[in-house]
Amino acid sequence: GGPLLQDKVAVITGAGSGIGRAAALRFAGSGAHVCLLDLKNDRTEQVEEEIRGMGREALFCDVDVANPQRVEQAIRSAAERFGRIDIVFANAGINGTLAPIEDLTPEDWDKTLTTNLKGTFLTVKYAIPHMKQAGGSIIVTSSVNGSRVFSNFGMTAYSASKAGQIAFAKMAALELARYKIRVNVICPGAVETNIGENTHPTQAVERIRIPVEYPEGGQPLEHRPAKPEQVADLVLFLASEQSSHISGTEVFIDGAETLL
Ligand code: NAD
Repeated sequence: GGPLLQDKVAVITGAGSGIGRAAALRFAGSGAHVCLLDLKNDRTEQVEEEIRGMGREALFCDVDVANPQRVEQAIRSAAERFGRIDIVFANAGINGTLAPIEDLTPEDWDKTLTTNLKGTFLTVKYAIPHMKQAGGSIIVTSSVNGSRVFSNFGMTAYSASKAGQIAFAKMAALELARYKIRVNVICPGAVETNIGENTHPTQAVERIRIPVEYPEGGQPLEHRPAKPEQVADLVLFLASEQSSHISGTEVFIDGAETLL
């Protein structure tokens, strides 16, 4: 057959960097039109031009995923521009402040939970009206920290947000099955992205750290963090009809690290 996503319409959050950017390029390279949601800066906006350069249509929207009005508006503008929405990649996220629970402020907690978990809810919520008719695929980016790994000290808020995304995605998979909308969640281990820019570690984390033996050289398979493009290959599979019988599943992409 032709390209995997020929003339499909995809909405991607956090599309301006890292995993979201790699997925946007992979989707476009596979024939999709893409709507890129991210906070506006030089890096994030540039992806729109990159994709137009590939001869595909791209629409950048300056959106904070925690803002219901902006999310609703951006998704509606994508549906109006491209005619419908087939694929949603709810991927925007931050590590936020890393601190012992005692030191973590309510504002720190809210910032992480609001961006990662509420942002996922809002993205899915406002896409459903545009997907109900024809069905489609929703992919959520969680983390190994949402399910298997709890030894990154100071990341209680992050971990709670990532676990919440998994539960949300599974509930959504059952609820949306009637519309032939599939929902799956990916759990990456370390990936080489710009997420460090949105990470605020505090010294106090050292106070609570328990020494953990990590496998020598990192993960067993390649001894390095994943490339965003490797994660994008998984997202493309879950977005496409190649995964037509897969819904409600969490897929680990971590070079077998979490089995150790
Ligand atoms: P990244 O920082 O390179 O990209 C994330 C993008 O999300 C950025 O462009 C950022 O501007 C955007 N974003 C942040 N807050 C936003 C908001 N409120 N509204 C809209 N956009 C916002 O990082 P990444 O590693 O590509 O992160 C993507 C996802 O992958 C996140 O959900 C993250 O938790 C998850 N993840 C990353 C790793 C890793 O090691 N990098 C591991 C597991 C899971």
